Amino acid sequence: MSPIFPGSTDAAGQRATLGVLGGGQLGRMFVHAAQRLGYFTAVLEPDAQSPAGLVSHHHIQTRYDDPAGLAQLAQLCQAITTEFENVPAQALQTLALTCPVAPGAAVVGIAQDRIEEKAHFTAGSDLSGVACAPYAVIETPAQLQAIQNDRDDLLPGILKTARMGYDGKGQVRVKTAAELAAAWAELGSVACVLEKMLPLMAECSVLVARGWDGQAVSYAPQRNVHVDGILAVTHAYEGNMPPTLATRARNAAVSLAQQLGYVGVLCVEFFVVEGDDEHGDLVVNEMAPRPHNSGHYTLDACNVSQFDLQVHAMAGLPLPLPRQHSPAIMLNLLGEVWFDGNGQRREPDWHAVLSLPGTHLHLYGKAEARAGRKMGHLTITGPDVASVKTTARRAAGLLGLPGLDAI
Ligand code: ATP
Ligand code: MG
Repeated sequence: MSPIFPGSTDAAGQRATLGVLGGGQLGRMFVHAAQRLGYFTAVLEPDAQSPAGLVSHHHIQTRYDDPAGLAQLAQLCQAITTEFENVPAQALQTLALTCPVAPGAAVVGIAQDRIEEKAHFTAGSDLSGVACAPYAVIETPAQLQAIQNDRDDLLPGILKTARMGYDGKGQVRVKTAAELAAAWAELGSVACVLEKMLPLMAECSVLVARGWDGQAVSYAPQRNVHVDGILAVTHAYEGNMPPTLATRARNAAVSLAQQLGYVGVLCVEFFVVEGDDEHGDLVVNEMAPRPHNSGHYTLDACNVSQFDLQVHAMAGLPLPLPRQHSPAIMLNLLGEVWFDGNGQRREPDWHAVLSLPGTHLHLYGKAEARAGRKMGHLTITGPDVASVKTTARRAAGLLGLPGLDAI
């Protein structure tokens, strides 16, 4: 793969263009990063008012699997990436026939399917000794019966659909064999995994970027707090978790990217569970084949953001070594922020929030605020961890955010 230089024009007069499949906020921030470097951008997304489509040079408004739309994207672009893992892997395969695609369809296919993903975590991969949670596959009534007969060690557990889950959707917590059977029926008896419910002490994630040439760089792990299955707060500063666990998580994520021959930005999520010592032990949860909500702090707290690295990796540019220059806390802004306690629509008090030192507001351009919908995020940076925490608490209080006690 020869590098695609920003600002270049080919023999036919076409400007160097990077494409993204999907038009959400991750696509929008990718587009911003690509444009800042001097690339033209193209977004394929059916929604006319999507966060990424609104800011891109080109917006191809078709379904993700529309042959004409895909052909147009491949024709416009010198390289293409994806912004959410539920785009059909087949679409990436089609694009790859005529255009470099990063990450590739095969690895996106693994990350799309919890059964394949877990098989990959278990079989033959040495992730610095980090295993995934005990689990079983349920695709047939016989497999359900087998769990009821002799795998009650997995209960209480979480039944998760193998495909199309995100933000805790497609998941049911079950305590007994009867609840498990009911939950599987409720999920439409589709392919699922049952995971043992683990006693979580904390959660963290690691971002890795890997280029076509195998060069890989990574960020230190960030600690994440979820509320109702959705990321609420990310803590990104030295001392956010025990250093030995942080090193292991980082090594495991880099090994995973290398084993997969991954190109682009990969996020690996981990649980910290009670273990042999007071710090606990690491369990790998899942991977996202793209930049991740937990990495948004890199936009304001690092010399290079996760989106910059995605652009560099796919375009074959050198990967700068990420360096964090400020401690940071990221607060997710869900649709609830736009409603008061009585369910009345309100405009959040941005003046008060932006008066606080070190606040960086990012709104994604979504017109309609709905409960649970990711509308934006607020990153707080500062000279030291104590002041960042103080400001984050104030901002969370002003906005009525959940998870205040976790800051
Ligand atoms: P996202 O795409 O937002 O990361 P998801 O829908 O893919 O979420 P998971 O990451 O599998 O879902 O789970 C969501 C959250 O539920 C986790 O971050 C964790 O808080 C909790 N959770 C999931 N699996 C387990 C488990 N085995 N034991 C304890 N808690 C769990
Ligand atoms: Mg997750």
